[in-house]
Amino acid sequence: MIDVTLLGTAALMPLPDRGLTAAYLECGGRAVLFDCGEGTQTAIRREKLNPMKIDLIALTHYHGDHLFGLPGLLQSLHVMERERPLYITGPEPLMEMIRPVAQLTGGTCFPIMAAQIPPEGVSMQAFDPAWPEKARLTPFPTKHRSPSQGYCFTLDRAGKFLPEKARVLNVPVTEWGRLQKGEEVETPEGIVRPEQVTGPPRKGLKFVFSGDTAECPALTEAARGADLAILEGTFGDPAHEEAADRYGHMTFGRAARTAAEAGVRELWLAHFSQRMEDPADYLSHAEAFFPGTVLGRDGMRTTLAFEKD
Ligand SMILES: [Zn+2]
Ligand SMILES: [Zn+2]
Repeated sequence: MIDVTLLGTAALMPLPDRGLTAAYLECGGRAVLFDCGEGTQTAIRREKLNPMKIDLIALTHYHGDHLFGLPGLLQSLHVMERERPLYITGPEPLMEMIRPVAQLTGGTCFPIMAAQIPPEGVSMQAFDPAWPEKARLTPFPTKHRSPSQGYCFTLDRAGKFLPEKARVLNVPVTEWGRLQKGEEVETPEGIVRPEQVTGPPRKGLKFVFSGDTAECPALTEAARGADLAILEGTFGDPAHEEAADRYGHMTFGRAARTAAEAGVRELWLAHFSQRMEDPADYLSHAEAFFPGTVLGRDGMRTTLAFEKD
């Protein structure tokens, strides 16, 4: 299962009911924070989430509306006596961003680590062994005015455990749990691997977070088949399409077209310009491409669960 909470839906400037960009993802009791706009730690508290569960902060780019919450959050984690390392990832040059943030925060009682994630992604266990084995984070390039990347969080699912195969291979029942967890088991007749006692892999879960970006093929490709995509929709009005493209943003229509082309199951829009008083006025422009588009609200949350067998 993956729990996702959208913490902020504003672009550039916070409004009383719209905080700046951040989303909190929890899986197996551990968490990733995507972006950390000003006010993020307050939003985490408001939603009764636990900032101590965060192992990784994944930044999409280094514009202030996506990271000015960082020093405050780091300082609070220090006050809370965090001990585990906290990893921060983002596009290059990552250290040029982390250094001044760490300086501004002052010393922390936990290490702040820069995490370079390769294009093929990384197992979340690289950040803490307590993460589910099949949880992965993969960055993908986006199209903004500065170096930027979005993220794809996946939770793969092994095939169904087949007891009859385990019995034929003489695996004691006491060892079945290890095979189900993906471990090899030694029997008097030799090593038994999990794939020998499971059916074909089953559909896993996929979450995509775009950050700021214009419509681009890499985003469509990364979002393919996602169960949930939180995409930016800075502008509602299709009249702003050209400007959106120029400034590295999307209109509702462009974001919805991306989601439709990628075959996304659920689309949430976020990162609304403060000039849009009520994003609902423009929802129809998204629905034209992606019926069922959801306008993000601060505090909106969902649980992505595996399909029933
Ligand atoms: Zn932004
Ligand atoms: Zn930006």
